[in-house]
Amino acid sequence: MSAPEILSRIVGPAACLTSADDVAPYAVDWRGSYRGTPAAVVKPATTAEVSNVVRACGETGLAIVPAGGRTGLCGGTVPPANGPQSIVLSLERMNRVRSIDALDFSIVAEAGCVVQNIQQAAADAGRLFPIQWGAQGTAQIGGMLSTNAGGIRTLKWGNARELVLGLEVVLPDGRVLDDLRRVRKDNSGYALRHLFIGAEGTLGVITAAALRLQPVLKRVETAFVAVPSPEAALALYGRFMDSGADLVAFELCARYCMETAAKHGVGLRMPLPLESPWFVMVEIAAAHPSVPLREMLEEVLSEAIETGEATDASLADSEAQRLGIWKIREDYPECSRLEGPAVNTDTAVPVSAVPAFLEKAIREVAARWPEGRISAIGHAGDGNIHFGLHAPAGWSHGRPAWAERADGFEALVNAIAVSLGGSFSAEHGIGVSKRHAMATHKSPIALDVMRQIKAALDPETRMNPGKVLP
Ligand SMILES: Cc1cc2nc3c(=O)[nH]c(=O)nc-3n(C[C@H](O)[C@H](O)[C@H](O)COP(=O)(O)OP(=O)(O)OC[C@H]3O[C@@H](n4cnc5c(N)ncnc54)[C@H](O)[C@@H]3O)c2cc1C
Repeated sequence: MSAPEILSRIVGPAACLTSADDVAPYAVDWRGSYRGTPAAVVKPATTAEVSNVVRACGETGLAIVPAGGRTGLCGGTVPPANGPQSIVLSLERMNRVRSIDALDFSIVAEAGCVVQNIQQAAADAGRLFPIQWGAQGTAQIGGMLSTNAGGIRTLKWGNARELVLGLEVVLPDGRVLDDLRRVRKDNSGYALRHLFIGAEGTLGVITAAALRLQPVLKRVETAFVAVPSPEAALALYGRFMDSGADLVAFELCARYCMETAAKHGVGLRMPLPLESPWFVMVEIAAAHPSVPLREMLEEVLSEAIETGEATDASLADSEAQRLGIWKIREDYPECSRLEGPAVNTDTAVPVSAVPAFLEKAIREVAARWPEGRISAIGHAGDGNIHFGLHAPAGWSHGRPAWAERADGFEALVNAIAVSLGGSFSAEHGIGVSKRHAMATHKSPIALDVMRQIKAALDPETRMNPGKVLP
């Protein structure tokens, strides 16, 4: 029996895809930068099936590339072109909420649950699952945890890691590590779950997670603010942090990014004329309805306008206007893609270093690629700026690749972030695209420890080969 026949027996023929047409969507990443040739796409429906698939792959010499919603931005779900024969193991059929406990503020969900569905399940139970970002309607819990995703609310509730109470994982030898507990305090040895969060499928397959929920936000206020500079934006950030309101999102956007959104976005309405060099999207919230949140927002913004930290502000007057502001932010990555070829980064620096980072990166990049168009947008409230460089207007894919012309851009920006005490991978992970940066910036000792962990858990390198470790 061939390997696909064995796998087909485990999951059923309809869940083991081998035809070129069926496999094609799983053979390319979201950005279209990486392509591979999976031997099959296998879609187990239970943890036992995942375990049997992993064992069968071990016996037949196949490697395993786990896949969630395939919105990852580092090529993590694509089998390496020159690597071992691999299957893509899609968790999409494992999409059940196993339990939700409002009193315990927890939910136990399978890895293939779409993030937005978990937000809805929490809301239906009168709770909040706080993580939020543009791809939440497609990304899955397993992918969210495997990349330790961030998003616009990281400054309040942390990255995905901080929302995890327990995990269920199928190990590379097929054994099931059942650490799916909801207990808040447990110092019984190594916290193994943290090994698999952010591991991008290189240490095992996450099949389910117990996640923390939060109280629902009873009041939310959102504003779109024009600011003269990143320094002014940071002063405004400090003012909000000191205001007594809960600051849940603080995004900084260069005018060029807002112009790109206005140009390509469908149904987007800019709350202010795009006359300022920088804009901030800010959201404050309270879990009690009597908190005078609107007054707090107005007070902070009027003080900021008096001191020159802000020049104009538009406050959302309705839920539709609030969602309209966030739609601009969430649609930006797609608008950027429509604007043409670009190179991008995912850096973070200490929050207070954001202005220095932007000043240095803009100066050095503009000097070296004067023809490029600089984009800077990101979660300034946690120091994570996505700094990019678009090809000149009208540059099409028919011309020499912009990535070649902009060779050295990513290394330059990463080096600036690292020199300021920052990171070259804030929230998207490493996958394939940042492996070279791992080799450059990660300490040899850290890499050595990572390789030892990998060798201990996956000695035959069957789990997502060619990813994360340089
Ligand atoms: C428009 C857009 C906006 C985005 N904005 C943000 C943002 O603001 N913040 C942010 O952090 N990210 C952002 N991302 C990146 C992406 O959405 C996240 O990385 C997300 O967490 C990936 O989830 P996924 O289910 O699509 O994972 P996938 O892309 O399917 O997989 C990502 C990695 O995890 C591994 N993996 C997937 N499932 C499992 C599993 N069950 N077990 C083990 N390994 C697994 C894969 O092998 C791969 O290495 C954005 C992406 C897009 C397209």
